[in-house]
Amino acid sequence: MKVGEAIRAAAARLEMTSDTARLDAELLAAHLLGMGRSEMLLRAMADEAPHGLDALVERRLGHEPVAYITGRQEFYGLPFIVNPAVLIPRGDSETIVEAALAARPDARRVLDCGTGSGALLLAVLAYLPQASGVGIDRSEAALTVARANAEALGLRPQARMERADWHAPGWAEGLGGPFDLILANPPYVESEADLAPSVKAHEPHGALFAGANGLDDYRVLVPKIPALLAPGGVAVVEIGWTQAEAVAAIAAAAGMDARLHRDLGDRPRALELF
Ligand code: GLN
Repeated sequence: MKVGEAIRAAAARLEMTSDTARLDAELLAAHLLGMGRSEMLLRAMADEAPHGLDALVERRLGHEPVAYITGRQEFYGLPFIVNPAVLIPRGDSETIVEAALAARPDARRVLDCGTGSGALLLAVLAYLPQASGVGIDRSEAALTVARANAEALGLRPQARMERADWHAPGWAEGLGGPFDLILANPPYVESEADLAPSVKAHEPHGALFAGANGLDDYRVLVPKIPALLAPGGVAVVEIGWTQAEAVAAIAAAAGMDARLHRDLGDRPRALELF
């Protein structure tokens, strides 16, 4: 069987599990072939199909995300290493990067709270050669992924990844603030009912859930932001699309104004705090 036919058959099987069956099949096949998707589409479709595609399709049928099967996810045009210790970077989170780069193209010091794979910090630093930054996470396993990404993207000289937990006293001492830009995609999910099966079963719950109304982490983290910002500094935090007012109120109580940013689906997705 040829690659093209194998992809067509795999996509047909994935139809019942995935909204992106054809794309999933292409990414899994390209992974087995050890090439990028576009390279495969351009010149390998008539090659002999690789062994093992059925086994990967089975895993996907069990709702395992493609990114965890391949160990890769593209974000803001950059290739990221991922594993189940980190949330898979989402297209909607590119809103945070856009807002941050627009707000402070001159930033020199950047902090990313809950860095996970490092996606937000490293995407921003890739566009700010004058800046350096620190990504913090409470998960050592996540920091290992973040450091691997900094290395693979050639951003090791600009990015430091450190263990810290904003629930602990003194967590921000020694991070090297104040910062011109603070990024955060904290946990903000209210309940398991809000999650797709693949997310619920496979992605790290510590990166997702934040109490009964999803606001626990904002309540702890946001009031600490003003003391960490340099004069003129800006924080950009991701929010659930129903949380804009509640998080803006938490920020207002801490003396900050908020500007809303929408995602690709035109839903509220980020607040710029200043
Ligand atoms: N956007 C994620 C989801 O819907 C949630 C991310 C988060 O809690 N920070 O699965």
